[in-house]
Amino acid sequence: MNELFSPDAYARVQKLPDLLLPWYDSHKRDLPWRINTDPYRVWISEIMLQQTRVEAVKEHYLRFLRTLPDVHALAECREDTLFKLWEGLGYYSRARNLQKAAKIIDRNGFPRTERELRSLPGIGDYTAGAIASIAFEEATPAVDGNVVRVLSRLLGDERSPTFLKKALRDLLACAYPPLRRGDFTQSLMELGATVCLPASPLCLTCPLLQLCDTRSDALPAREPKAVRRKIPVTVLLFHNGSRIALCKRENGLLRGTYGFFTIERAMEQEDAARFLQDAGLNRFALGKEIKHNHVFSHIEWNMTAFPVACETDVSSLTLPENIARDGIVCTRFQALSYHEKSYVERELSLPTAFRWCLQYL
Ligand code: SF4
Repeated sequence: MNELFSPDAYARVQKLPDLLLPWYDSHKRDLPWRINTDPYRVWISEIMLQQTRVEAVKEHYLRFLRTLPDVHALAECREDTLFKLWEGLGYYSRARNLQKAAKIIDRNGFPRTERELRSLPGIGDYTAGAIASIAFEEATPAVDGNVVRVLSRLLGDERSPTFLKKALRDLLACAYPPLRRGDFTQSLMELGATVCLPASPLCLTCPLLQLCDTRSDALPAREPKAVRRKIPVTVLLFHNGSRIALCKRENGLLRGTYGFFTIERAMEQEDAARFLQDAGLNRFALGKEIKHNHVFSHIEWNMTAFPVACETDVSSLTLPENIARDGIVCTRFQALSYHEKSYVERELSLPTAFRWCLQYL
């Protein structure tokens, strides 16, 4: 016990397994990662589910496991294949970390404790707690936003979610039952996902109703939202008939995935035309501008795309001098190569930030 929570809070969380486990048995959703508790399957599902909706994950998860059924297959697979399997899930660093960790696990075996799991790339407190409890029955809580929401409401705790995320781990660890620890972790997640919803929780159907101090969406406390930095990005969609120019992105957020030529600068149509001429392109047809916003977790791209029809291989162009001099982030022309559009759609990992462009080519 620590002093962050009252004895009453400790007493109440002790009651959770008896209330949640029977409810979980009769209400849990039939999800593909619940077929068994194989640590590889649990791990992949927990990483995919971070910041991504269950419905969006289901199909990706099944496809991923069909192609990469075990740690060894993941450790050995080509990055292009991995990113193609990840396409649409976003946060590609998760996929990169999965493979880094898979190489370690392939050599040393799957870690069986929360502490060991946390030492792997891409596995933080939440994921380590989830895998250790679900796959290895360790009494290790997995506290994410869902669990903070349930417990802050249950206990009427008005402290900030950031504080609670850490503090609740110790409190919850005391509540773990001797058996069915993985199911207990999953029952809390399930309640947060299906009953104790962010807005309009379904309190009348909640197994914790009698125990709950809040019985509404008044908690958790709201935290000021981080301000997203807005970056203007011009996208040049070079194409020659059905062949389109793409590059494997060399740095930044989407490193390792494919994308179109981008320059982090706002351009009107005449700016784009001048830029192309300065780069040495003489014969081209510049299409109308297309506006699109893409939101990442901490930044927002305010994108303006221009289709550019030209027969010249644009990988031979040179960036105008002022681009490097002014430190403007920009794709290297030499990084571009041409592919048939149908091949791009089928084989290459084009993240959501760029996929919308295909309809204009
Ligand atoms: S009673 Fe309502 S607010 Fe309380 S835990 Fe259940 S769903 Fe959430």
